[in-house]
Amino acid sequence: MKTIEEVLGPGSKKGVFYGRESSDKQDADMKTQKHMAYSLVEKYKCEIVREYVDTGVSAYKKKMEQRAGLMEMLDDLDKNKVDFVVVFQGDRLARNPMEHFKIRAFMNAREIYVIQSSGQDLYNSGDLLGQLMKDGYSKYEADNISTRTRDDFETRISKGIYNGGGAPFGYRYLGNHQFKIMPDEKIVVKNIFELYKSGQGFQSIAEILMTDKNTKDIWCKETVKSIITNPFYMGYLTFGRVNKSSRNSINDKSKWTITRFKGIEPIITQEEWEQCWEIYKKKSQGDLPPKHFKTSYLFKGVIYCKDCKQPLMCKDQRTKDKGKPYGSRVYKCPNRNCGLSYRADDLHEFIINDILPSVYIKARTAPHETLHEEILSSLKKDANQLLKDIKELEEQVADYIIELSQAESRVLSLYQESIESNETELMILIEHRMRLKKWIEGTKHVIDKKTKRIQYINHVESDFEIWKDSFLGSVLEEYDLQNDTKLRRLILYIFEKVEISKNWEINYTTRIDLEGDAALHVMGSFLENK
Ligand SMILES: [Zn+2]
Repeated sequence: MKTIEEVLGPGSKKGVFYGRESSDKQDADMKTQKHMAYSLVEKYKCEIVREYVDTGVSAYKKKMEQRAGLMEMLDDLDKNKVDFVVVFQGDRLARNPMEHFKIRAFMNAREIYVIQSSGQDLYNSGDLLGQLMKDGYSKYEADNISTRTRDDFETRISKGIYNGGGAPFGYRYLGNHQFKIMPDEKIVVKNIFELYKSGQGFQSIAEILMTDKNTKDIWCKETVKSIITNPFYMGYLTFGRVNKSSRNSINDKSKWTITRFKGIEPIITQEEWEQCWEIYKKKSQGDLPPKHFKTSYLFKGVIYCKDCKQPLMCKDQRTKDKGKPYGSRVYKCPNRNCGLSYRADDLHEFIINDILPSVYIKARTAPHETLHEEILSSLKKDANQLLKDIKELEEQVADYIIELSQAESRVLSLYQESIESNETELMILIEHRMRLKKWIEGTKHVIDKKTKRIQYINHVESDFEIWKDSFLGSVLEEYDLQNDTKLRRLILYIFEKVEISKNWEINYTTRIDLEGDAALHVMGSFLENK
């Protein structure tokens, strides 16, 4: 693989310049493109012998064949070989994968190197396939766009210029690069950060906010997350924080460009923000107890439809009509013909008031050691199942990788034959390869989640020692529905499975062998529906 020094050194090389100027204000103008090209070429004591330009042309809209300057250049290069072509960035030449592929193939075949003045690097390395396979086109384009906008961002922010659209919750944009704090929203923002510091998760904060009857906003976990993770609230603007191609997930902080912006008056201190960011990071890395516990559906994953044997879905059916909330959170049978549905609050109250005490009384009489062992062996069983799942998933990933390499070698042979006649198949293969990569990534993500769950189970083991005293102590007196973590824990420890029918009949299996029976079944009925 060549370097720019090898291409331009030891000087006196001759090349041509290609520039494309679009009406997009984000793009570098022709003056900049030329300036960058000439100063780079002069640095190596080389010479630009001719310029080719297309102006007012967006590469998105016009095919390469419709760009006169580009076509003329390719024509000339076919007849008269030069040592190099210099462009501002590769995206000046083409925007879609096939065009990039064609241009790189053309240049490689003629041993002409295209230099990108913005990054002082090469657009074509001579190894077409390697480039294609390693980077993938989408990444290539994303990086290019990102560098360009990032530079632009930093320049503007340093000048106190804001051009990022609207203001986040809590602020209004006044124009003239100034933001104003909305006093009522400021209280909510402060409250959100306080709640997060106290250990609440995004979902539970959203639920707490929705219980405020004066709220004019609809809160959900995403909107809470967008506040907690935004340094705007401490007076900073960021670039590259949100990964728009990945369900708006938050990028690692090292990928951000972050700058203090004087037009923002902070609502919280930098210290507070950093503190919340640390919590967020720990939670997302699984260092803190996962949100498995932080659910307002206490029986999620534990409760089943007695008739259909399906785990019940948790659905938030609350909506707002003229500011008045109605509907509720429900557990629902996934079988549409079944129709079983319970309000979460009713079901929680029933099980907690009517079922749990009897289980609890029995648990109190069971010897400690047995109890401990029973729970652990049951959790171990779960962990082993997870390990098995992971193994299967890993095999699946291995299959995908084999398929991927087959696709890649097919691309290679197509490329060696002739590009023109195989264009369609080549495009299909490139897309197939991208899809495979996505599948691999997705499966790895699932494996990761399961691994974390195992870590959690192992974590429970040590936790249990601390926990069992309060379990046998006064857990029931302590529980608090606003802060349901403890209760959810208790439920997960005790119940392996709870089955419910349409008329409140309940069957359950405990993780604990309470009276020496393998499983405990208690029938109950709930008459009073609140
Ligand atoms: Zn059902």
